[in-house]
Amino acid sequence: MTLDTATPRTNLLGLTREEMETFFVSLGEKKFRAAQVMKWIHHEGCDDFESMTNLSKALRTRLEEIAEIRGPRVVYEGASQDGTRKWVLEVEDGSYVETVLIPAEGGKRRTLCVSSQVGCSLDCSFCSTGKQGFQRNLTSAEVIGQVWVASNSFGARRDTTNRPVTNVVMMGMGEPLMNYNAVVPAMKLMLDDNGYGLSKRRVTLSTSGVVPMIDKLGDELDVSLAISLHAANDELRNELVPLNRKYNIATLLDSCRRYLDKCDDTRMLTIEYTLMKDVNDQQCHAQELATLLGDLPCKINLIPFNPFPHSGYEKPSRNQVMRFQQWLEELGHTAPVRMTRGDDIDAACGQLVGRVKDRTKRHERYIQSIQIDAD
Ligand code: SAH
Ligand code: SF4
Repeated sequence: MTLDTATPRTNLLGLTREEMETFFVSLGEKKFRAAQVMKWIHHEGCDDFESMTNLSKALRTRLEEIAEIRGPRVVYEGASQDGTRKWVLEVEDGSYVETVLIPAEGGKRRTLCVSSQVGCSLDCSFCSTGKQGFQRNLTSAEVIGQVWVASNSFGARRDTTNRPVTNVVMMGMGEPLMNYNAVVPAMKLMLDDNGYGLSKRRVTLSTSGVVPMIDKLGDELDVSLAISLHAANDELRNELVPLNRKYNIATLLDSCRRYLDKCDDTRMLTIEYTLMKDVNDQQCHAQELATLLGDLPCKINLIPFNPFPHSGYEKPSRNQVMRFQQWLEELGHTAPVRMTRGDDIDAACGQLVGRVKDRTKRHERYIQSIQIDAD
């Protein structure tokens, strides 16, 4: 295939159904071509037009001239003994992002943790992604490309009764609500039957609390929402999550209530609470948290801090984590602890270079500790 470098090709990977329909209509084709091509891309893992045998030869040739299906390049792929799979992906400008697939329930559930940005601008004090600063937003093709790569690793042809990826959590690198315009189309593709056909309860967006965007998201989609709270008073949260100085806890929880009100089913929020030794892991913190959350329909995920060099924080002891959980449960809150799982994939991580290695190890441990409960 010869490449025409003069006009950039349209990458069809990140197009929602509406965008794909507009694209085909602009070529003088019928709208239903969109569903056909989406199925080839997202159900079959196809990246060449030649294989799309239900399209005419003329249309396939035309598509080869003006379009492409370009996913991120896999730089590293690893599998751990517990079934966790991990990818380091190279995106357009040579940056790396990572994606991790975590199995649960004897393989019935496979949760993919997806990145939304290279780096992050929000600079939470305990987060290594934040420490790297912000490099750039991923495109919708790069966000959905992570689901595409993970799904393709299970071979072609999707079976709706045995999906390679059953759940997605937007909990990888970056703040998804700071990249709204790429993340929302990608999540639409996760939900679309011609895309990945996941139910909205199985797609979770995690945010540190970009309030206006929580409201906007609620007007457009009703995926599950996870809030990275980590502190129950503004003084401490200002320190851990600087964004709190802009949108404080009361403002954030109000937006969460509005979000839940917009969902047309009974839905629970996930509250993420990273436990840091002597910072937010004492009984007074548990009491304050329980009081703050009151009767908000939510589940609290307790995540022991994952240390990284020069973080300045420590992980609490296992006993302290258990005590914290018990305090919350005595106060009427469900608070599963997300413990770190087997680390045998680390050896492979050691083969990765510099910054990739650091990020990967931190995220891997964190991501392995997460199993979002959904249907
Ligand atoms: N930016 C979004 C999503 C990506 S971060 C957010 O903040 O929610 C995903 C989760 O990882 C967040 O809950 C974040 O607080 C948590 N996290 C970041 N660094 C961590 C660390 N070192 N140990 C444990 N959890 C961490
Ligand atoms: Fe960004 Fe989330 Fe890390 Fe905060 S915790 S710096 S919002 S990725």
